[in-house]
Amino acid sequence: MEIHFLGAAETVTGSKYFLKSQQHQFLVDCGLFQGIKKLRQLNWQYLPLEIKKLEAIFLTHGHLDHVGYLPKLVKMGFKGYIFGTEPTLKIAEIILLDSAKIQEEEAAQANKEGYSKHSPAEPLYTIDDAKEAIAMFKSVPEGEWIDYSSEARFRFLTVGHIIGACSVQLELENKKLVFSGDIGRDDDLLMFAPKKPDSADILFVESTYGDRLHKEENVEQVLTDLVLKTVKENGTLIIPSFAVERAQTIMYLLWKLSEEGTIPKIPMFLDSPMGAGVLKVFEKYEEWHKLDKMEVYKMVESFHVVQEYRETWEVIDMEGPKVVIAGSGMLTGGRVLTYLKQLLKKDSTNVLLVGYQAEGTRGRYLLEGAKEIKIYGKYIPVNASIYSCNSLSAHGDQEDILNWMNKIKDAPEKVFIVHGEVKAADEMRRKIKDVYGWTATIPELYQIVEV
Ligand SMILES: [Zn+2]
Repeated sequence: MEIHFLGAAETVTGSKYFLKSQQHQFLVDCGLFQGIKKLRQLNWQYLPLEIKKLEAIFLTHGHLDHVGYLPKLVKMGFKGYIFGTEPTLKIAEIILLDSAKIQEEEAAQANKEGYSKHSPAEPLYTIDDAKEAIAMFKSVPEGEWIDYSSEARFRFLTVGHIIGACSVQLELENKKLVFSGDIGRDDDLLMFAPKKPDSADILFVESTYGDRLHKEENVEQVLTDLVLKTVKENGTLIIPSFAVERAQTIMYLLWKLSEEGTIPKIPMFLDSPMGAGVLKVFEKYEEWHKLDKMEVYKMVESFHVVQEYRETWEVIDMEGPKVVIAGSGMLTGGRVLTYLKQLLKKDSTNVLLVGYQAEGTRGRYLLEGAKEIKIYGKYIPVNASIYSCNSLSAHGDQEDILNWMNKIKDAPEKVFIVHGEVKAADEMRRKIKDVYGWTATIPELYQIVEV
């Protein structure tokens, strides 16, 4: 069979692995490229596969860089199955509708303000395209082998990271392919530790933090200090986070700290049109996280969930100290940009970056000390204080990734390191050789490998 690396090869976004066997043509993940322009432009390029022959797509989890290309694929004629666990599909639904809306809005804004080189600027896909993709979702239970045909079967195994996230095992042509998806942490506050595969012939392993160990940080202390500083400065603490990234963990911690009286009760907002929907997924799929009903309820109650864009402006203009969680986490789009455009120039603003910041994103520029960043075609001076806290990441570090594969006894025939920037992937490759003695390779984008 052939494996085509159509995304997340030598980079972290655009996850798409195309499998072409004698009998079947499958895709594992169908993500959007994000980050630098060169990558984003790939979303508009020809996808080298025969869409009509593609039978099924397996989604590891609901993040945009794993599901965000689905509406485009459906628009181009995909008619097969889209498999995922129930919470993954719920999250994917929320994310796709949001992504389509953002794209429609951005195209409209570009046309209004005339900053696009294309005239008229068109969205990659529309809300209607997203709805069509969502109608094709087919949920499958976690942990059970499912026969796709007499030649193929598959299984989803929980992997931490975010609600519903799984690794995917696929048996095809007598080979067992294992896709790690995004690996969570062994000691996550909200998610259970990843389940591990016991064997693999062809292993695909992510490497987002392949070259790093998360610092032992006291997250409660970081949040406490920043909230107290914000109160003192009468400013705003902005925590960029996608509603389905670390938002629930941060909400949980802030609720707990204010409940205990460690931080004063100041207004806290989750500004995300998706926020309410994601919280409902948390309420509904209790077996997928560590919180009990009451904790989820109280945590949700302690935040104002902002849905309408006009409320965003009310929050910005509001007097007094406040905390705002808004997406996107890497500042590539979303409501957080409106806050930053207005508040980044104020020195009473504190920004806490909590997730991975991909190359070329505004988040990465801020992290690296940029003095100004471009938002909606304008340069905004950075007078705010910028902080980061990696231990809130939904991604495991090098050790978590290595641990995830420690139950595999026999060396896989092939190990592919994906979903990482070159340096991180290469460090992961070396580490796998050191620890397990397996020779791994780092596929290039659009590379085709025969196995
Ligand atoms: Zn992810």
